[in-house]
Amino acid sequence: MENNVQVKASEKERQDYKKQSPQEEFQSILKEAVAVLGYSDEVFQFLKEPMRFLEINIPVRMDNGRTEVFRGYRAQHNDANGPTKGGIRFHPDVTADEVKALAGWMSLKCGVTGIPYGGAKGGIVCEPRSMSTGELERLSRGYVRAVSQIVGPTKDIPAPDMYTNSQIMAWMLDEYDHIREFDSPGFITGKPLALGGSQGRETATSKGVLYTLQTVCQLRGKKLKGLKVIVQGFGNVGGYLAYYLHELGAKVVGISDALGAIYDESGLDIPYLLSRRDSFGIVSGLFDDVLTNEELLQKECDVLVPAAIGGVITEDNADLLKCQLIIEAANGPTTKGALRKLSERGITVVPDILANSGGVVVSYFEWCQNNQGYYWTEETVEERLKEKMYASFLAVKETADQFGIDMKTAAYVEGIRKVAEASELRGWISL
Ligand code: GLU
Repeated sequence: MENNVQVKASEKERQDYKKQSPQEEFQSILKEAVAVLGYSDEVFQFLKEPMRFLEINIPVRMDNGRTEVFRGYRAQHNDANGPTKGGIRFHPDVTADEVKALAGWMSLKCGVTGIPYGGAKGGIVCEPRSMSTGELERLSRGYVRAVSQIVGPTKDIPAPDMYTNSQIMAWMLDEYDHIREFDSPGFITGKPLALGGSQGRETATSKGVLYTLQTVCQLRGKKLKGLKVIVQGFGNVGGYLAYYLHELGAKVVGISDALGAIYDESGLDIPYLLSRRDSFGIVSGLFDDVLTNEELLQKECDVLVPAAIGGVITEDNADLLKCQLIIEAANGPTTKGALRKLSERGITVVPDILANSGGVVVSYFEWCQNNQGYYWTEETVEERLKEKMYASFLAVKETADQFGIDMKTAAYVEGIRKVAEASELRGWISL
């Protein structure tokens, strides 16, 4: 093993990703699910766009003394069920279109899991991997100053997302506290424990994905032990998930990071890979022989878990996948065209708004603890998360069976039902 980075991945993958319109994907499945429910077109017209969308430009003094201006967004999809909730991502490919779709998915995610929030999302177009800690801190504080009027513990509660973490949440909290002039731990979730974070928040999304997979195994009479799994992505979600799967005796045969992928059909040494990963989840640079992310997706496995970016399973590669089950740990990894092809091939896709909802569920627990000023044990958090994941899975499965639809549409149906009923009760729309 040598430390020479081979960057085989992939301008092409990034271009393909940019061609997708996540918002069109969201709207198209939304329309179908509204029809399944027999709701009026009003519901679709109301839910297809966020209720509020803010575009900002953030001036940041860089280390070289010059000011760079960063484009940022905050979308609040719907607040009929409570304050809006959703992460903030720092990524070069962030677009307005994507942030709007991600906010819509958050509304549905909160609906599916029955937590009293609507959906939101934020993003900043930037390349965090080439910024210093000081620059990241100034950018994070600048974002909060720009959105401070529309966020808050009873309005809109941010959290981590792609390439943001508990330290960034801590800076954002501090900036917000200064603006408001009082301590408001419930303003943001995914905080460090010392600043009012929750036990189990950092691992929550991966644990939720794991519980989902365990539920599928249980219902299908299969064992997790020995199952061959590919995890695309080795950041917060993919990294912890690979670790738990490995611990439980599943065979993690493939993982990837933003630069490349590694595959070994006899199983990878996940603890070793985790110990060598950098803070952006990059580990493939240790190997001479790396695959691209696209090549990894097409390798043989029982379960494929896309846990990186959106739009990676498309009509172009859906027929080439060699898995039996897909669990979406990323947001929006499978396009609608791909879903159709996979369903024809009998491959079940457990949708993102169900499978990766563990993050927002424990964010909700964190917010409850902040409001109470009383903190729970890790066991309590885990037990309540497990309960929620299991109940939500069964509800979606039942809806899928009842209407004869796939699980993605069924999850939309469950999510929309909650949002639409609350919106009707408030007198905003008629179902
Ligand atoms: N960013 C995560 C998601 O996409 C978590 C959001 C939250 O905790 O509010 O679900």
